[in-house]
Amino acid sequence: MTQPMTKSITIRRVVAAESAVLAFAIAAHRRHPVLAAGAVAAGALGAWAAFRPGSPVLGPVLRHGPRDRPRAALTFDDGPGPSTPAILDALADAGVRATFFVLGRQARRHPDLVRRMHEEGHQVASHGYDHGILVLRGPAHVRDQLVRTEEAVRDAAGPGVLTRVFRAPHGFRGPGTWPAVRACGYRMAGWTRGVFDSADPGPDVVAERSARALAPGCILLLHDADGWNPDRLRAHTAAAIPDICAAAQEMGLELVTLDQLVA
Ligand SMILES: [Zn+2]
Repeated sequence: MTQPMTKSITIRRVVAAESAVLAFAIAAHRRHPVLAAGAVAAGALGAWAAFRPGSPVLGPVLRHGPRDRPRAALTFDDGPGPSTPAILDALADAGVRATFFVLGRQARRHPDLVRRMHEEGHQVASHGYDHGILVLRGPAHVRDQLVRTEEAVRDAAGPGVLTRVFRAPHGFRGPGTWPAVRACGYRMAGWTRGVFDSADPGPDVVAERSARALAPGCILLLHDADGWNPDRLRAHTAAAIPDICAAAQEMGLELVTLDQLVA
């Protein structure tokens, strides 16, 4: 098994590749101006597509549900982790079902929480196994991430629990991502709005940003854990859940799972 590729390693390598493209273009622009311009354009497009989570260039991404129905979806990435029980408690109190993009690695650590998600009516979807960045990974690596997460969820909660929806870590994809995701029978999910709850800005800020972001068709991105630090709490997110659910109710929005939202 290879080590997960971090965000900083990925960005360093992409910058190195882009610099090489630029150096080529500078050297070649007098003799081959069209080729040089094409290389720069292709390099820029590739980087833009990889790091822009909703870009369709690297495959179709679910970014919102129908905007003419009063429904929205809360989605949680990176768990299960130590704050997941508090988040599940808050969702149960509010009578809300959400979608959890779990990491296979975390499902192995907390199989009971994956079972609980499923038993309480939430959708369990895939965030890959180890949260490694996929931009520079080929289809075989992406497939391995998907399959190992399927095995972890199956061992935790039984067959058929993991739904075939995949959200790439940070939403970053490369040319090898979509071919593997499609071949494994998944849809790719992004999000409509994030509220940067991963920076722990305080429960009130998480709730207020979420209330402003919620709208018909919205897929709201939240975190029940941390992809790089599995022991980190998401107490601010957990504490904000009652206010987020109340805000949705005041707006007349029904909170549903992602599959229900886009059905
Ligand atoms: Zn993540």
